[in-house]
Amino acid sequence: MDYIRTEADGQLAFTQSTEFLFLPSCLYGFHNTETTVEKAKSGRNIYCHRGTLSLPEEERICACGQRMHINSHPDIYLRHLCIGGNLNGLLFPHNQLRCPKCGATKSQYISFKAERHLITVELYQYTRDLLAAGTYTNKQVAEITGLDKSVVKAIEKKRLQERYTIDGGKKLIKPEKQAKFLGIDEFKLHNGRRYATHIIDLETGHVLWIQNGKKKQVVYDFIDHVGMEWMSGVEAVACDMNSDFQEAFEERCDWIQPVFDYFHIVKNFNDKVVSEVRKGEQRRLYEEGNIEAARVLKKTRYILMSKRTTLQKKDEDAASERIIHKGSPLFKTEDIKRKTGYEEKYDAILKENKLLFTLDLIKEKLSAAYVMTDEVQMSEAISDIMDICKATGNKHLLWFEKLLDTHFTGIIAHATYKISAGKIEGINQKIKTLRRHGYGYPDDEYDHGHEQETICQKSAIT
Ligand SMILES: [Zn+2]
Repeated sequence: MDYIRTEADGQLAFTQSTEFLFLPSCLYGFHNTETTVEKAKSGRNIYCHRGTLSLPEEERICACGQRMHINSHPDIYLRHLCIGGNLNGLLFPHNQLRCPKCGATKSQYISFKAERHLITVELYQYTRDLLAAGTYTNKQVAEITGLDKSVVKAIEKKRLQERYTIDGGKKLIKPEKQAKFLGIDEFKLHNGRRYATHIIDLETGHVLWIQNGKKKQVVYDFIDHVGMEWMSGVEAVACDMNSDFQEAFEERCDWIQPVFDYFHIVKNFNDKVVSEVRKGEQRRLYEEGNIEAARVLKKTRYILMSKRTTLQKKDEDAASERIIHKGSPLFKTEDIKRKTGYEEKYDAILKENKLLFTLDLIKEKLSAAYVMTDEVQMSEAISDIMDICKATGNKHLLWFEKLLDTHFTGIIAHATYKISAGKIEGINQKIKTLRRHGYGYPDDEYDHGHEQETICQKSAIT
């Protein structure tokens, strides 16, 4: 090797080297006769290894027994492993054979060519290994290997299919382990108009099923996939009250206990009750001419939806002057410190509005009920909440009372199973991050495989 660098950037100029290292190429039958340096569109050097591929006599024998002729030999170009930052390619005539007797034709077999790609088996395997490491995005793998992004994506899709599907990618593999507690939830896809549904093993955090749509059919398909024997080991499923999922499970597997978890119940309460009551109260205050109070209420969505303990924590932070955003001398910004008075504001709002005070009370009672481990005790606590809702006569609270009533068994089952769909929410967050990573254009099959892998690798999300 020529160690006398003649270029400022330190890159050895290929043509100036007069010494060689001999390395086994593992490209069986390929004879390198000349190597030239070309420039790729990206500006990188390509070492173009020109040569020939030996044609063994036995390959020339046709099925009919006749020796085949070489009909033509167009050049074929295969990408090979990079050397440092430089790309490598092989260029050689690819023999096309034809039988003079029966007319059969075939291309000469290239043992080192990857199936369906114009790259070598070694580059293919290396790309696959990089992808399997899970450290790089597809874009980064494309940069490392010098391959086009679409080729990297095709290799990744094939890899995921082999790992997680059977029947040539048509069916997902069955879960290896029996799950006792399932979680099911829907999340928005790409543009936010379509949905997909996840079913996960709540104990391990593994994604067992991902399917487009948010209908009962997802559950039916999942049950068909895993089979009734596997389902018989499932005891409970955590889900949102506002879905048909629990019905679908109950229809097919009547032993399964749906459990409505705290996360979803609070979400329903905040979105459907607190927001609406706040708006209603605001309207009332305006109509009564209490403009100032109405204005105060307008900006209180966050405060009203928070738990008192959260607000207390914020006030404590303020008291201890905790810095929530660090300033920078470079950008001439100052530290942002937590403002105080959250709890005070909260109390002031509640004082003005009896109904809001009731919401506060319900929230506290709900959170207390959801730490109970006895079903009788929990059923008393939930009944108590229902009574409070009824006593207000407010239509949103009456709606919530009905929601609790119609899902009562599944709510108090929480005392026994103590399972939560919070883990699924964690997974949904992870998927959003994955999507943001930019893996190219939307391809559900590909994305779902990727999610499944990422999540299985990281295993239980806590
Ligand atoms: Zn023949």
